Amino acid sequence: MSCLFCKIVDGSIPSTAVYQDDQCYAFADIHPQAPVHILVVPREHIASLAETGKQHPALLGHMLSAAAEIARTKGLSKGYRVVFNTGDDGGQTVDHLHLHLLGGRPLTWPPG
Ligand code: AMP
Ligand code: ZN
Repeated sequence: MSCLFCKIVDGSIPSTAVYQDDQCYAFADIHPQAPVHILVVPREHIASLAETGKQHPALLGHMLSAAAEIARTKGLSKGYRVVFNTGDDGGQTVDHLHLHLLGGRPLTWPPG
């Protein structure tokens, strides 16, 4: 498996861990776009949100709950943003499902 985030999950590529449990792993984004920029990925390889199906709502909910917990531990009491870039038009560059947690500054809307 040549997937970058699978290698980060299995530890063969180093990362700065923020949170982990039996279903997901969270680590600091290497090119942070905000003071807090964390990626939450499932341990299982799933290419994107578009590849999820009927068996995945629990995992997706788990990822969102993990993001909310991380936001609390990071003190993001003024708010934050959670993003799943999906596919080419969505700006996805790594084909392993991941959630961006961004916070620590006011974020503009709409995105580019
Ligand atoms: P996306 O563009 O939504 O697919 O997001 C991929 C994210 O992975 C980008 O924000 C990258 O900065 C981040 N990224 C790429 N390589 C690494 C790495 N080795 N460690 C941590 N984050 C990475
Ligand atoms: Zn993968």
